[in-house]
Amino acid sequence: MTATHHPPPRLPWWQRLHGALMPDYNRAAATFWWTVVGLGAVVLVANLASLRGWTLQEALQIVAGAGFAILLGLFPVRLPGTKQSFVAGDIFIFLLLLMQGPVAAALAAGIEGMVGSWRSSRRWTSRLFSPAVAVLSMNLAGRLPDGLAPHLGHLDHPAALMAAMLLFATANALFSAQMIAGVPRLKRGEAFFQWAALLRDFRWVGLAYLGSAVMASLLYLSYRQSGSGVLLVVLPVLVLLIVALHYYFLQQEARLAMQGSVDRAAAQAEQHLRELQASEQRFHGAFTHAAIGMALVDFDGRLLQANPALRNLLGLGEGDALPLHFQDVLDSADRDALDAQLHAGSPATAGGAGSFQLELRCRHADGRTVWVLAHVGQFTEPLAGAPCLILQLQDISARRQAEAGLHKLAFHDSLTGLPNRRQFLDSLADAVERHRSDASASYAVMYLDFDRFKLVNDSLGHNAGDSLLVQMARRVQENLRPSDVVARLGGDEFAVLLPRLQAEHDALLLAERLVEAMREPFEVAGQALYAGASIGITFSRFGYTSPDEVLRDADTAMYQAKALGKGRYALFEPGLHAAVTQRVQLESDLRRALADGALTLAYQPQIELATGRAGGFEALVRWQHPQQGSIRPEAFIPMAEETGLITVLSDFVLHSACAQLVRWQHMDPAWAELTISVNLSGHDITSRGVVGRVSDALTTAGLAPRHLVLELTEDAVMTRLDAAAANLQALRTLGVHLSVDDFGTGYSSLARLARLPIDSLKIVRSFVHDLAEGNHEAAVVQAVLTLGGALGKQVVAEGIETLDQADQLRRMGCGFGQGFHLGRPLSSVEATAWLVAQAASQQPLH
Ligand code: C2E
Ligand code: MG
Ligand code: MG
Repeated sequence: MTATHHPPPRLPWWQRLHGALMPDYNRAAATFWWTVVGLGAVVLVANLASLRGWTLQEALQIVAGAGFAILLGLFPVRLPGTKQSFVAGDIFIFLLLLMQGPVAAALAAGIEGMVGSWRSSRRWTSRLFSPAVAVLSMNLAGRLPDGLAPHLGHLDHPAALMAAMLLFATANALFSAQMIAGVPRLKRGEAFFQWAALLRDFRWVGLAYLGSAVMASLLYLSYRQSGSGVLLVVLPVLVLLIVALHYYFLQQEARLAMQGSVDRAAAQAEQHLRELQASEQRFHGAFTHAAIGMALVDFDGRLLQANPALRNLLGLGEGDALPLHFQDVLDSADRDALDAQLHAGSPATAGGAGSFQLELRCRHADGRTVWVLAHVGQFTEPLAGAPCLILQLQDISARRQAEAGLHKLAFHDSLTGLPNRRQFLDSLADAVERHRSDASASYAVMYLDFDRFKLVNDSLGHNAGDSLLVQMARRVQENLRPSDVVARLGGDEFAVLLPRLQAEHDALLLAERLVEAMREPFEVAGQALYAGASIGITFSRFGYTSPDEVLRDADTAMYQAKALGKGRYALFEPGLHAAVTQRVQLESDLRRALADGALTLAYQPQIELATGRAGGFEALVRWQHPQQGSIRPEAFIPMAEETGLITVLSDFVLHSACAQLVRWQHMDPAWAELTISVNLSGHDITSRGVVGRVSDALTTAGLAPRHLVLELTEDAVMTRLDAAAANLQALRTLGVHLSVDDFGTGYSSLARLARLPIDSLKIVRSFVHDLAEGNHEAAVVQAVLTLGGALGKQVVAEGIETLDQADQLRRMGCGFGQGFHLGRPLSSVEATAWLVAQAASQQPLH
């Protein structure tokens, strides 16, 4: 591939020179430049030619004039504060004009113009143009007044001379100004001649020229008068004067410049002050009209100023005095927190001075609490200077209220309003921690369980249960100190934390008080209910590490209290765990035994004391545990009641006992009138279905109701009298006999007993056991017998272990007896044999 190279067309030499010298000149400007420079050169040559006939003195004068002019060109006099300066060198050129005529002056002007433009510009265009203009201008203007005289210096009259010089200076100034300004105008493509611009340019050039012309005229006149000596003296002095003026004005200029910067600094300071004032005003505006409460306080919290929003927040009117310190409106609980932060932020504290944020409670004038988010920052008032704090307070009561509501939901039991398990565990965790770090910070925890709550809930419904729980909670609370914490853990279980326990004895006293308080009846749905509570207590000395351990042990102790007979408290001890574990095991064993039919019944004869004839049997449940052997009913009946197994157990006893009696009745007509006594638990007699269950057992067995006696313990009947009354009445209507068991242990008022629909009383065996002629028990038993007789109730004595007891009771008029002396509890087979043997003997047993 070959590249064809076209060389640019070769320009003529003068165009290339033009491109190098004046690349920015257009044709008009260039033409003008060449014309001026060319004309200047021609005139210069003509001038030099005319010089040929001159003397040395004349030539020296030209050189001196140009020299002085060049010298003074080095010292331009600039008027301070303006950008204009004038060069005094023209005086000498003008003087030369007067002394030697325009040619000499033009030569000097050309030299001066050349030197001056050499110094001021590096471009040849300028270096050539200025001297050309000077030569042309001087030739033209210098010859202008020639009409007045062959040459100016020959004018005789000083005034005429002066006028001619002024005319010359004006023309010179106008001409050179127009020439000089012409080039850039043509370059820009503007009109060459502009009158207004010419006048403007003339102002300075012209004034300088006019001044120079006057000076030159004066010098020339004195020269004409006094000869050249004057010039020799005056000219150097004039030069010195102008040089001095140059420096003086320079200095003046520098001073002015300094003054200017001082003035500017002052102006800046004033501006700054104005801005500060504006900012101060803006701050006050913002402060006054801010929607959030704002206050200025010192580092002690002293209130310096408060805005209307803050007054509003605190419920203070326009005229109300502000509190002295901000702390005065704070809730006392929050004061320390604020003080600590204020101190940390005070300028006296090294490294303080940070801003901070706190949530605080303020007291509104109407007494309520206002939650505020306080933002505190350091603030230096621009004009006052001393640092203070600016408080910004935002009302966050609504948020706090919502949070409190949520907290209450999360940490409180909605029914009783008490803290819930979560909250309790939190408080307990604190106490555990405190004790771990300080062994003297003791605490106690109580676990409360209400003994008959299930009963109420099942028999009277949930509303009654709820009402009972609320009352229980209130009653527990009434007995506590303010620092104690009571919580509902769930169901009818409550827990109490006694933090800061002085002595364990205090906890025992409280437990006693609670047990007593719970024994008092509760009023639910118009009925008096007896609940009773079992309480387990444990203490910090066991060295707990978690709140769960504490609760577990208190719960264990509570089970112990129940096992020991309810309505009491028990203290935790390390051995209890095993007992409770056993108990839990036993529960599941009982459940299995009931399902497997592993329970049996024993039948204990009931004897008519007067005749020795068998009246019937009491059915007593028996449990032969595969590992533990026979277990006493007292050990598992309460457990069955608690777990709800009692219903199944009672049904089993009812059905078995009725069936057994029917078998006996069918065996021998003589046994047709035997009765069977069955023990019902308190739970049974208050439960709704009990009447149906009893009649079901009777129907299934085919037993007439009058042969069935239901034994209810005095305690069970009396504490649930209201709840049980309807059932008792219905059972009575059914035809079943009712008997109060263990009579004498309870607190029955005899009046109430009279109103009960019962048929018989069983005197508690402890009375019988202690019975001796004429003693207190004998008196009580006698009273019961008399009362029973009066009320038309049968009286049965149980626990007769000796012949003496049997005799004594018979003599006292007791109808029936039961006890080891009369007959032990027997299996059904043994009981049948006993019946047979008894019938055979036909003899009353003594
Ligand atoms: P209870 O109804 O008063 O039963 C009489 C208890 O006294 C029986 O104890 C019996 O064995 C015992 N006993 C009889 N004669 C004498 C005596 O001469 N001296 C002594 N010291 N005791 C005598 P057991 O069978 O251990 O029953 C204890 C309690 O358990 C019963 O007292 C009763 O309240 C309850 N119980 C027993 N069986 C049942 C049952 O099937 N259902 C219910 N709900 N409770 C039952
Ligand atoms: Mg009984
Ligand atoms: Mg009894």
